[in-house]
Amino acid sequence: MNSKTLVLKISNGNFEDTISRAAHILKQGGTVAFPTETVYGLGADALNPAAVRRIFEAKGRPADNPLIVHIASMDSLDRIATDIPPIAFELMDAFWPGPLTLVLMRKSAVPDITTGGLDTVAVRMPDNPVALALIREAGTPLAAPSANTSGRPSPTTAEHVISDLSGRIDAVIDGGAVEVGVESTVLDVTSDVPVILRPGGVGLEDIKKHVGEVVIGYTDHAVGEGEVVRSPGMKYTHYSPKTKVVLVEGEGRAVAAKMSELVESYSEKNMRVGLLITDETAGYVCADEVYSLGKRDVPEDAARSLFAGLRYLDGEDVDVSVSIIIVDGSVKCCGVGVAVLNRLRKAANELIEV
Ligand code: AMP
Ligand code: MG
Repeated sequence: MNSKTLVLKISNGNFEDTISRAAHILKQGGTVAFPTETVYGLGADALNPAAVRRIFEAKGRPADNPLIVHIASMDSLDRIATDIPPIAFELMDAFWPGPLTLVLMRKSAVPDITTGGLDTVAVRMPDNPVALALIREAGTPLAAPSANTSGRPSPTTAEHVISDLSGRIDAVIDGGAVEVGVESTVLDVTSDVPVILRPGGVGLEDIKKHVGEVVIGYTDHAVGEGEVVRSPGMKYTHYSPKTKVVLVEGEGRAVAAKMSELVESYSEKNMRVGLLITDETAGYVCADEVYSLGKRDVPEDAARSLFAGLRYLDGEDVDVSVSIIIVDGSVKCCGVGVAVLNRLRKAANELIEV
């Protein structure tokens, strides 16, 4: 069905037509990538096992890594989840539509392939007009993991999706660059004390205003063989460019000094160096290629540029060729900054703390 991927560009006046073409593909069991506020998602009918299988095939995603089910109205929640605790409704009220995914007990309408065989289902309502219209028009909840090849940086533009998945999916809706830039926060509310399974677009501080106590259930490194995890996605390497990534973390000045030293020593070895760097540190360090993460204390900007920056320095869309990427980890670690540092740590081959 998908030897050629259809690119559907949203422009003035063609919104409804585009949504209706894409929804038609989804209703037939096809795969369509679309923008959400977090990253681009690769959608398929969450209740159709054959359609969901195509997502796993296109991404090369391990079968035990469950998908997030996207809905556009509260009525659909009833079709897929059961035993929903009051705290879940309070969180939906506060953060939906938005970048918060809730893990709930699943109903049998949700096939095993969607949940990786778990008795729970991860659900969210995205805050993007294209995503919401598409889900409505398709008339079914959409399973939609990030629309990248498994293990690669997540896509924040339609070009990123095309670079990874062209010829492997039926269509992509180009709705421009996303707003948030990192994936949703995943919160398991099936136990007495909610557990954060992944930091994301909604900050922990904001969640804590609603839930008294919360357990941190994620790690910032790829989980080793044999370690027990509550969220299967934690086991796998993530967000990685092909080029080696070194992350330098610490207080601003110390990071700048360490990065300068590294650039010098790699350059002496005749390596071309790429930097993913905050504006403040960029005042002290330069190299062959530079991509900005914005200001240190504005983690929202870092979130928006993080994956695009890793892809750029990896030579994806232009003729950039570096043999090492050094990343500035002095981004403020609060709000969405927690998710930024989590993604950077997972992408890094080497972490230097100064
Ligand atoms: P992605 O769709 O690529 O953004 O990844 C979805 C994340 O949600 C992965 O880390 C999954 O392991 C996690 N997830 C999805 N469904 C569940 C579930 N039922 N229980 C726990 N974690 C889940
Ligand atoms: Mg993903």
